[in-house]
Amino acid sequence: MDTSLIIEGAYFIAALLFIYGLKRMASPKTARSGIVVAGWGMVLAVVVAFLYGLDVNERAQPHVALNLGLVMIALGLGVGWAWYSGKKVAMTDMPQMVALYNGMGGGAAAAIAAIELFSGNAQSHGVVVSVLAVLGGLIGAVALSGSLVAWAKLDGRMSKTIRLPGQQLINAVLFFAALGLGAAITTAGVTGGEVSMLLISLFFILALVLGVMLTTPIGGADMPVVISLYNAFTGLAVAFEGFVLQNPAMIIAGTVVGSAGTLLTLMMAKAMNRPVSNVIFSQFGESGGEGDSDIEGSMKAAEASDAAIAMYYASKVIIVPGYGLAVAQAQHKLYEFVKLLQKQGVDVKFAIHPVAGRMPGHMNVLLAEAGVPYDIIHDLEDINEDFAQADVAIVLGANDVVNPAARTRKSSPIYGMPILNVDMAHQAYVVKRGQGKGYSGVENELFYAENTSMVYGDAQKVMAQMIEAVKSLG
Ligand code: NDP
Repeated sequence: MDTSLIIEGAYFIAALLFIYGLKRMASPKTARSGIVVAGWGMVLAVVVAFLYGLDVNERAQPHVALNLGLVMIALGLGVGWAWYSGKKVAMTDMPQMVALYNGMGGGAAAAIAAIELFSGNAQSHGVVVSVLAVLGGLIGAVALSGSLVAWAKLDGRMSKTIRLPGQQLINAVLFFAALGLGAAITTAGVTGGEVSMLLISLFFILALVLGVMLTTPIGGADMPVVISLYNAFTGLAVAFEGFVLQNPAMIIAGTVVGSAGTLLTLMMAKAMNRPVSNVIFSQFGESGGEGDSDIEGSMKAAEASDAAIAMYYASKVIIVPGYGLAVAQAQHKLYEFVKLLQKQGVDVKFAIHPVAGRMPGHMNVLLAEAGVPYDIIHDLEDINEDFAQADVAIVLGANDVVNPAARTRKSSPIYGMPILNVDMAHQAYVVKRGQGKGYSGVENELFYAENTSMVYGDAQKVMAQMIEAVKSLG
């Protein structure tokens, strides 16, 4: 059979597997198998890329055929490292890992652009291919260096939020300078002139610096949104380079990643009620809350055992997990406590806010890790009405996502963000270590409400005390 037919067919199947895998990732129940399906699509695409590279017809990719040994070494190292790091990464370190992998995708697209531009291959195929190679190179390089900065921030290796005077102007100058160089590279190449190696090198250096400059001013806690945005960039860069290499799997995979990343970025921003520009250009959470000094009431402390006993004798309990639960790694103890309540006949549900924690799905992953069944985990839209009928709502290390100021205070930075209606439960308990504010830096009215009591302490220690208290009841 014609090799090219096999290759095209295999790329088509790989693309179907990517899309089907992505579809399965839409639900926590099928997400794990979705990742495996998409992974097999990627294996197929990589194997076929070899066939394509070794294909002896005129479309042959001489780089692959000539450097087979090097390619095998790179593949071996990459697969080995990814396998090892994937096995040992902690759940809470997942955003960093995503940032790293995402950066590599962008870097790979930029590397393809570099090869195609340095060799003059892209330019020799006309204006369109040359422009796409340049744009893919620019976007890929920005995604690479930007994702590395995001990784460093999330991993606690870079705590500073560096903001230079005139930062926006510097970034604009860098962007247009890189575009100008890209135009010069394209024009010189397409018109048959000499393309200076220096010009191409300078173009990539500017793009890499731009990625760093765009990311350093953004606060660490906004990094998940930024990573999602760079993920969309990476997809776009890969799709552009797919056109350059005439590789359909790259075009489809890149487009899928690009659109999924864009959607995720928009959904995260919407769930926070902040435009994406606000994430990129503002110093959210660093200025503190304004106008929240007039909150009435006072915070009332309660013992962990009081809260536990109230839940033990309740008929309906709703649990709201937040970032603090992840920090304390209290999910296992929490589920142990939930099982004790269920044994007593208490109807227990979990309420998940779309931006609880620090990455989309953070709480779902955390609860799944502890073995909490999916059918007692509910999204905001499905459960918000139920709070009014709940005897007890307990907030574990969450803050902003339960702050009623989002409903009432127009001056609040979180105004308009949908929140979980914990304040509507008959009795609310909030577990946190002290008086610390939430990520947005605003005071929480819920903590001062008549029907709220504060249980101070690390979430894991508090859960252990609650388990003790309930066990002592018999
Ligand atoms: P918050 O960050 O608002 O609050 C977390 C609370 O946990 C703090 O008030 C802190 O209080 C408490 N806490 C910290 N450590 C512990 C511990 N060991 N034990 C008990 N409590 C602890 O969390 P939320 O989940 O409510 O909100 C998420 C925020 O992150 C939102 O503002 C959202 O916009 C933002 N965000 C979310 C993203 C996502 O995709 N999920 C992406 C980017 C931003 P104390 O210090 O007193 O203990």
